[in-house]
Amino acid sequence: MTVDACDVTPSTCQLDANGKSRNMWPNGAPFALFLSHDVDQVYDRGFYRTLGDINHFQRLLRGKDYGNKAACWHRMGRSLLHPKGWRSQFERILKIESAYGWRSTFFFLEGNRWSRYGARYALEDPPIRELAALLINADCEIGVHGGYHDFNRAAGYRRSSERLESAFGIKPVGIRNHFLKFSYPETWQAQAEGGFLYDATFGMSDRPGFRDELMQPFIPENPQSGAPIDIVVLPLTVMDFTLFQTLGLGQEEALAALDSLLEQAKDAGGLLSLLWHNNYFDEPEYRIWEEVYVEFLRRISTCKPYCGTGAEIARWWRSRKVGG
Ligand SMILES: [Zn+2]
Repeated sequence: MTVDACDVTPSTCQLDANGKSRNMWPNGAPFALFLSHDVDQVYDRGFYRTLGDINHFQRLLRGKDYGNKAACWHRMGRSLLHPKGWRSQFERILKIESAYGWRSTFFFLEGNRWSRYGARYALEDPPIRELAALLINADCEIGVHGGYHDFNRAAGYRRSSERLESAFGIKPVGIRNHFLKFSYPETWQAQAEGGFLYDATFGMSDRPGFRDELMQPFIPENPQSGAPIDIVVLPLTVMDFTLFQTLGLGQEEALAALDSLLEQAKDAGGLLSLLWHNNYFDEPEYRIWEEVYVEFLRRISTCKPYCGTGAEIARWWRSRKVGG
């Protein structure tokens, strides 16, 4: 860990090429940070969880997945014989982020529990309600993770929103689609009609980086009419799975890739948006995933960004645009 990611002071970061203040983010922060977690899995034991573990293990044996065979084998045995509780992974995340006074957004999967791309838990399960209360008490945001089958249907988005509201007593305003499923402009139009303030789906799963070089939140337009679509897009910069599983990066390689993204976000005064899945925390096989997150957050913190939940960033961006 030889790279110190931020040698540029915040005051310098606030200046553009002409030496003028960008004043883009609250309190003159040099760039913004959006931390998020897609809650695909919560329970250590489950039918699809076991299928996924078996598939991962056989891929590991054939050299098609990245990971640790012994740790994977141990994890499979544990989940079947002595499953760990759901709480520790989330408490780990809250502890890591709150060290900097930061809070994040958790997108809960809504959908049919017993389908391939559905939820791995029911929103109404007592432990899931308890989890939601834990996050709400920690001042985190809860959004919807859904839309795999309904990614261009407003009715599906409305149903997801209502189910979360009914289960948790909060009205979600943010959404990220499962597997980043997306089509333009249908997804954003349907999400807007479904009542969402912002979308966090727009990103790349095969490599880290700023999709279409878009480094700021934006309000998209309908390509036919040119009319704005009533939703704020918070582009996704990078997710854990891409770094460690798709690309197979080690700890230092992943940090180098992340440092590059941090530099770009700083240079543009843009939005750095991270997705780290909850089920890879407090998990020995994925120890590096968590360690990289911890170290990268430390590096980001030296740059003193504005860190908000997705809802806070989207509201700020919208009010800023309206106010000029
Ligand atoms: Zn997902």
